[in-house]
Amino acid sequence: MFNLVLFGPPGSGKGTQSEKLIEKYGLIHLSTGDLLRKEMKAGTPLGNEAKSLIEKGQLVPDEVVVGMISSALDANPEAKGFLFDGFPRTIAQAEALDKLLTLKKTAIHAVLFLMVNEEELINRLVGRAKTSGRLDDADPEIQRKRQEVYKNETLPVAGYYQNQDKVSRVEGEGTIDEIFDRICSHINPLLEA
Ligand code: AMP
Repeated sequence: MFNLVLFGPPGSGKGTQSEKLIEKYGLIHLSTGDLLRKEMKAGTPLGNEAKSLIEKGQLVPDEVVVGMISSALDANPEAKGFLFDGFPRTIAQAEALDKLLTLKKTAIHAVLFLMVNEEELINRLVGRAKTSGRLDDADPEIQRKRQEVYKNETLPVAGYYQNQDKVSRVEGEGTIDEIFDRICSHINPLLEA
Protein backbone atom coordinates (compact mmCIF):
# COMPACT_ATOMS: atom_id res chain seq x y z
CA MET A 1 0.00 0.00 0.00
CA PHE A 2 1.05 3.56 -0.62
CA ASN A 3 -0.56 6.21 1.57
CA LEU A 4 -0.25 9.96 1.24
CA VAL A 5 -1.40 12.95 3.25
CA LEU A 6 -2.06 16.13 1.31
CA PHE A 7 -1.53 18.86 3.87
CA GLY A 8 -2.05 22.63 3.82
CA PRO A 9 -4.30 25.48 4.96
CA PRO A 10 -7.89 25.98 3.78
CA GLY A 11 -7.72 27.20 0.18
CA SER A 12 -4.28 25.73 -0.56
CA GLY A 13 -5.64 23.54 -3.38
CA LYS A 14 -5.81 20.16 -1.64
CA GLY A 15 -9.15 19.20 -3.23
CA THR A 16 -8.08 20.19 -6.75
CA GLN A 17 -4.74 18.38 -6.53
CA SER A 18 -6.33 15.32 -4.89
CA GLU A 19 -8.53 14.73 -7.94
CA LYS A 20 -5.45 14.58 -10.18
CA LEU A 21 -3.37 12.52 -7.76
CA ILE A 22 -5.94 9.76 -7.22
CA GLU A 23 -6.28 9.38 -10.97
CA LYS A 24 -2.54 9.22 -11.64
CA TYR A 25 -1.61 6.92 -8.75
CA GLY A 26 -4.81 4.86 -8.39
CA LEU A 27 -5.40 5.87 -4.79
CA ILE A 28 -8.68 6.13 -2.88
CA HIS A 29 -9.53 9.73 -1.97
CA LEU A 30 -10.51 10.23 1.68
CA SER A 31 -11.59 13.81 2.31
CA THR A 32 -13.20 14.27 5.72
CA GLY A 33 -14.66 17.60 4.51
CA ASP A 34 -16.39 15.82 1.58
CA LEU A 35 -17.59 13.00 3.84
CA LEU A 36 -19.03 15.51 6.33
CA ARG A 37 -20.76 17.51 3.57
CA LYS A 38 -22.34 14.26 2.34
CA GLU A 39 -23.69 13.56 5.82
CA MET A 40 -25.00 17.14 6.05
CA LYS A 41 -26.76 16.85 2.70
CA ALA A 42 -28.38 13.56 3.73
CA GLY A 43 -29.51 15.19 6.99
CA THR A 44 -28.11 12.41 9.21
CA PRO A 45 -27.71 13.05 12.97
CA LEU A 46 -23.92 13.18 12.43
CA GLY A 47 -24.39 15.66 9.58
CA ASN A 48 -26.66 17.87 11.63
CA GLU A 49 -24.20 17.90 14.53
CA ALA A 50 -21.29 18.72 12.19
CA LYS A 51 -23.19 21.49 10.37
CA SER A 52 -23.23 23.98 13.23
CA LEU A 53 -19.47 23.53 13.82
CA ILE A 54 -18.53 23.70 10.14
CA GLU A 55 -20.59 26.85 9.66
CA LYS A 56 -18.67 28.49 12.50
CA GLY A 57 -15.31 27.47 11.01
CA GLN A 58 -14.62 25.15 13.94
CA LEU A 59 -13.38 21.57 13.86
CA VAL A 60 -15.68 18.58 14.22
CA PRO A 61 -14.69 16.36 17.21
CA ASP A 62 -11.75 14.01 16.65
CA GLU A 63 -13.83 10.87 17.46
CA VAL A 64 -16.29 11.73 14.68
CA VAL A 65 -13.73 12.13 11.89
CA VAL A 66 -11.54 9.26 13.12
CA GLY A 67 -14.64 7.03 13.11
CA MET A 68 -15.44 8.04 9.52
CA ILE A 69 -11.87 7.35 8.40
CA SER A 70 -11.80 4.00 10.19
CA SER A 71 -15.02 2.91 8.41
CA ALA A 72 -13.67 4.09 5.05
CA LEU A 73 -10.43 2.11 5.52
CA ASP A 74 -12.45 -1.01 6.39
CA ALA A 75 -14.72 -0.48 3.39
CA ASN A 76 -11.77 -0.59 0.96
CA PRO A 77 -9.72 -3.69 1.82
CA GLU A 78 -8.37 -4.03 -1.74
CA ALA A 79 -7.11 -0.44 -2.02
CA LYS A 80 -3.66 0.18 -3.53
CA GLY A 81 -3.42 3.10 -1.13
CA PHE A 82 -5.20 6.12 0.26
CA LEU A 83 -4.89 9.85 -0.22
CA PHE A 84 -5.90 11.69 2.96
CA ASP A 85 -7.17 15.21 2.24
CA GLY A 86 -8.07 17.56 5.11
CA PHE A 87 -7.25 14.80 7.59
CA PRO A 88 -5.50 14.59 10.04
CA ARG A 89 -6.19 18.12 11.32
CA THR A 90 -5.07 17.64 14.94
CA ILE A 91 -2.22 15.73 16.60
CA ALA A 92 -4.80 13.38 18.20
CA GLN A 93 -6.13 12.55 14.70
CA ALA A 94 -2.59 11.93 13.41
CA GLU A 95 -1.90 9.55 16.29
CA ALA A 96 -5.21 7.75 15.75
CA LEU A 97 -4.44 7.40 12.03
CA ASP A 98 -1.02 5.90 12.76
CA LYS A 99 -2.69 3.33 15.03
CA LEU A 100 -5.34 2.44 12.43
CA LEU A 101 -2.72 2.02 9.70
CA THR A 102 -0.44 -0.04 11.94
CA LEU A 103 -3.34 -2.43 12.54
CA LYS A 104 -3.55 -2.79 8.77
CA LYS A 105 0.22 -3.36 8.60
CA THR A 106 0.80 -0.16 6.67
CA ALA A 107 1.73 3.49 7.35
CA ILE A 108 1.78 7.01 5.95
CA HIS A 109 4.55 7.12 3.35
CA ALA A 110 4.68 10.84 2.62
CA VAL A 111 3.09 14.14 3.59
CA LEU A 112 2.93 16.74 0.83
CA PHE A 113 2.68 20.20 2.38
CA LEU A 114 1.23 22.83 0.01
CA MET A 115 2.71 26.24 0.84
CA VAL A 116 0.54 29.26 -0.10
CA ASN A 117 0.73 32.77 1.38
CA GLU A 118 -2.23 33.97 3.44
CA GLU A 119 -3.36 36.78 1.13
CA GLU A 120 -3.56 34.35 -1.79
CA LEU A 121 -5.52 31.88 0.39
CA ILE A 122 -8.19 34.44 1.24
CA ASN A 123 -8.46 35.49 -2.44
CA ARG A 124 -8.90 31.87 -3.51
CA LEU A 125 -11.59 31.20 -0.88
CA VAL A 126 -13.50 34.32 -1.91
CA GLY A 127 -13.34 33.11 -5.54
CA ARG A 128 -14.34 29.56 -4.59
CA ALA A 129 -17.36 30.82 -2.61
CA LYS A 130 -18.94 32.00 -5.88
CA THR A 131 -19.19 28.43 -7.20
CA SER A 132 -18.89 26.10 -4.20
CA GLY A 133 -22.08 27.23 -2.46
CA ARG A 134 -20.17 26.67 0.78
CA LEU A 135 -21.24 28.99 3.55
CA ASP A 136 -17.86 28.54 5.25
CA ASP A 137 -16.15 29.97 2.12
CA ALA A 138 -18.47 32.95 1.68
CA ASP A 139 -18.19 34.67 5.05
CA PRO A 140 -14.89 36.52 5.72
CA GLU A 141 -15.32 36.07 9.49
CA ILE A 142 -15.62 32.28 9.12
CA GLN A 143 -12.64 32.21 6.74
CA ARG A 144 -10.51 34.05 9.29
CA LYS A 145 -11.64 31.60 11.97
CA ARG A 146 -10.67 28.65 9.75
CA GLN A 147 -7.20 30.09 9.15
CA GLU A 148 -6.80 30.65 12.91
CA VAL A 149 -7.93 27.08 13.72
CA TYR A 150 -5.49 25.86 11.06
CA LYS A 151 -2.57 27.71 12.68
CA ASN A 152 -3.40 26.67 16.24
CA GLU A 153 -4.57 23.09 15.82
CA THR A 154 -3.53 21.80 12.42
CA LEU A 155 -0.09 23.28 11.77
CA PRO A 156 1.41 21.24 14.67
CA VAL A 157 0.49 18.12 12.66
CA ALA A 158 3.25 19.09 10.18
CA GLY A 159 5.72 18.94 13.09
CA TYR A 160 4.37 15.52 14.07
CA TYR A 161 5.18 14.14 10.60
CA GLN A 162 8.41 16.15 10.39
CA ASN A 163 9.59 14.14 13.41
CA GLN A 164 8.95 11.02 11.32
CA ASP A 165 10.89 12.62 8.46
CA LYS A 166 7.93 12.36 6.08
CA VAL A 167 7.22 15.97 5.06
CA SER A 168 7.90 17.38 1.58
CA ARG A 169 7.18 21.09 1.19
CA VAL A 170 5.69 22.02 -2.18
CA GLU A 171 5.32 25.55 -3.56
CA GLY A 172 1.52 25.80 -3.88
CA GLU A 173 1.32 28.89 -6.12
CA GLY A 174 1.29 28.76 -9.93
CA THR A 175 -0.96 26.91 -12.35
CA ILE A 176 -2.76 23.71 -11.34
CA ASP A 177 -0.50 21.68 -13.65
CA GLU A 178 2.71 23.31 -12.39
CA ILE A 179 1.78 22.51 -8.80
CA PHE A 180 0.75 18.97 -9.77
CA ASP A 181 4.12 18.37 -11.47
CA ARG A 182 5.93 19.58 -8.36
CA ILE A 183 3.92 17.21 -6.16
CA CYS A 184 4.60 14.28 -8.52
CA SER A 185 8.33 15.01 -8.49
CA HIS A 186 8.24 14.30 -4.74
CA ILE A 187 6.09 11.17 -5.04
CA ASN A 188 7.77 9.41 -7.99
CA PRO A 189 11.15 8.76 -6.34
CA LEU A 190 9.33 7.20 -3.36
CA LEU A 191 7.54 4.77 -5.65
CA GLU A 192 10.75 3.86 -7.46
CA ALA A 193 12.67 3.27 -4.21
P1 AMP B 1 -12.60 21.03 4.28
O1 AMP B 1 -13.51 20.71 3.15
O2 AMP B 1 -11.48 20.04 4.44
O3 AMP B 1 -12.11 22.45 4.26
O4 AMP B 1 -13.47 20.91 5.62
C1 AMP B 1 -14.59 21.73 5.87
C2 AMP B 1 -14.91 21.74 7.36
O5 AMP B 1 -15.22 20.41 7.80
C3 AMP B 1 -13.76 22.18 8.26
O6 AMP B 1 -13.68 23.60 8.40
C4 AMP B 1 -14.14 21.50 9.58
O7 AMP B 1 -15.19 22.20 10.22
C5 AMP B 1 -14.70 20.17 9.10
N1 AMP B 1 -13.62 19.15 8.98
C6 AMP B 1 -13.14 18.58 7.84
N2 AMP B 1 -12.16 17.71 8.10
C7 AMP B 1 -12.00 17.73 9.46
C8 AMP B 1 -11.11 17.05 10.35
N3 AMP B 1 -10.18 16.20 9.89
N4 AMP B 1 -11.24 17.32 11.67
C9 AMP B 1 -12.17 18.16 12.15
N5 AMP B 1 -13.03 18.85 11.37
C10 AMP B 1 -12.95 18.64 10.02
